[in-house]
Amino acid sequence: MVAWKSTTEFSPAPLDLAAYATEHHLTLPALEDGSIDPVLIVDRTAWEALWDHARSTDVEVGGLLIGEVFRDEATDRPVTLVRAAVPALGGASSAVSFTFTPDAWDHLTAERDRLWSEMITVGWFHTHPNLGVFYSGTDRNTQHAFFNRPWNVGIVVDPLALSDQVGLFVGAHSRRLPASDLVVAPEPIVVVTAPVPAPVTEPVAPTQPPTRPTVRTVWETYGSRVAVAAAGAAVGVVAVVATEWVRSQRRDG
Ligand SMILES: [Zn+2]
Repeated sequence: MVAWKSTTEFSPAPLDLAAYATEHHLTLPALEDGSIDPVLIVDRTAWEALWDHARSTDVEVGGLLIGEVFRDEATDRPVTLVRAAVPALGGASSAVSFTFTPDAWDHLTAERDRLWSEMITVGWFHTHPNLGVFYSGTDRNTQHAFFNRPWNVGIVVDPLALSDQVGLFVGAHSRRLPASDLVVAPEPIVVVTAPVPAPVTEPVAPTQPPTRPTVRTVWETYGSRVAVAAAGAAVGVVAVVATEWVRSQRRDG
């Protein structure tokens, strides 16, 4: 019996997964009898957004996975459908760690509510550049604290690895699933609005030279927030970096 069926706080809508897979040209992994692992489906647009963010820097970065959860009518398994991957702006990043800061968390949940108000947070992702796709103790703690439902997923990717670039971890205890279980839709399932605000054009009196840019860039919109978050997180980063550094030394050793 799937744990979430005994609770009243969240009741996923039923889904005919086989029909859904046929409709969207999805190749599902073999579904073992009796398994309660979620079936993980990622929209093509979300998958590309995740990788764009992962490849944007050589330090660790991360973000939230937004989407929907259903219950497969045939197998009773949860179906986690990831519709969007939202980068965490202002997360505390270093070469060997990524941490959601309170400011980053506030920003992410505000973006989710603004752009995908009908959806929920189904998981999170982060990168391990050149470290491999395992879960550290910090990662397990993060998953246990914030993404601890049976249908929650954590995706860790190593954009610098030559193989084994994707790790999947589900539920409160970060149970690892084979990367091949992840179903990436071959085409966008829905048109997902990119989580970037439209440039704002500000009128300037024609007789005066403009004293500031008339088009606000994404960096100008979020840059100060990132700087404040980075400064505020600095103390925490030192502790996390020290922990991760020790871990990496053990890995190397
Ligand atoms: Zn990690």
